[in-house]
This record gives sequence, structure tokens and C-alpha cells, in this order.
Amino acid sequence: MATPTSWAQEVITCDLCPKPTQQFCNNCQVSLCVDCVSKHVDKFKSQIHDIVHFTNRKIQPVFPECKVHSNQRCMAHCQKCDVHGCLRCILSSHNTHNFTEIHMYFEMKKNEIGSENHKIESIIVPKYKQKIENLASKISTSTAKFDELEKEAEKHRKLWHQEVDNIFNKLNSLIKSTRFKISTIQDKKFYSSYDAYC
Ligand SMILES: [Zn+2]
Ligand SMILES: [Zn+2]
Ligand SMILES: [Zn+2]
Ligand SMILES: [Zn+2]
Repeated sequence: MATPTSWAQEVITCDLCPKPTQQFCNNCQVSLCVDCVSKHVDKFKSQIHDIVHFTNRKIQPVFPECKVHSNQRCMAHCQKCDVHGCLRCILSSHNTHNFTEIHMYFEMKKNEIGSENHKIESIIVPKYKQKIENLASKISTSTAKFDELEKEAEKHRKLWHQEVDNIFNKLNSLIKSTRFKISTIQDKKFYSSYDAYC
């Protein structure tokens, strides 16, 4: 059950003042308190206002206000100038131009957007998904190739280390054996001359 506080939060206020709303204009889709009904009707005098109790409101599209004539709602779209116009526009500056009824114009735009969306979802998105998949597979192929190259380089590094070790081992043993031979010869010479001297 709603507490007094939550009830207070649920109260919908008038669109023109902070008072709670009681009425609704179906044509303009605005919530109104009793005092603001006349203010609203006065502001948009040239239009029809279907004022109903808020609980009987009908949600429907509201057409934009005319940019040339204040407080007038657009009723049609001028095909020649590609602008929306109110009744006064239709009768004055655009009176020789062809018009589309505003709700027909929005319906057409809605259909255009729908078909654009369909095109994006059915053609463009799958195309880019395919491109992304191809790119991912190229990345994984080149990653595998680089891994292979690194392994190969490591194998060659070990082989070359082994080869260098072998060369220096041979060189070391050559130095040692030469050193032994020379010192044996020198020793022999030393002792023979020592014997001759004594
Ligand atoms: Zn009000
Ligand atoms: Zn209204
Ligand atoms: Zn106008
Ligand atoms: Zn026009």
C-alpha cells in the first residue's frame, strides 16, 4: 500500500505550474491543472483542444510548433521547400506549393528509418562482422607464425652456443697439451744441463 510520502511522489503535476494535474489536452499532449486549462487554450487560440479528465487521456503524437508563426502547430510538410508549415504558412508563403499531410510525412520518415535500419542490420552489420572475423583470423595466423619463428631462433641459438663451446673446448685442450709438451721438453733440457754442470 502506498505510504503518504510515496503517494505524494506519485502525484503528476501540471505542465504549466506546480499544482497537481487534473486535466489533459489530447491534441497538445499536456497535463493541466483546472486553473491552467484556460491559459493553455488562450495561448493556442487557433487550434482545437480536446481537454479531458487526466484519467481519460489518449497518448498520441504532437506535431511541432511552426517556426514562423508562434503558437501554431504544423499541419503539413512543403515538398518544394522541405519545411513543416502551419495553416497560415499553407495559405500564405507556400500557397502554390505541394504539401504532404504532417502525419503522412512522419509515417513516411518512420518507414524510411525502418528500411535504413533493416539495411544496416541485414547487410552492413553482417559485412563488418565478416571483416572483423577475417581480421581476427589473420591476427591469430600471424601470431602463430611469430611463435614458430621465435622457437626456430631459440633452436639456432642453442646450436650455435654448442658449436662455439666445442671450438673453445678444442682450443683449450690444444693449449693444455702444447703447454705440457713444451714444459716437458724444457724440464728435460734443464735437468740435462744441470747434470752436465754438476
Ligand atoms: Zn497549472
Ligand atoms: Zn491543447
Ligand atoms: Zn506557419
Ligand atoms: Zn513551400
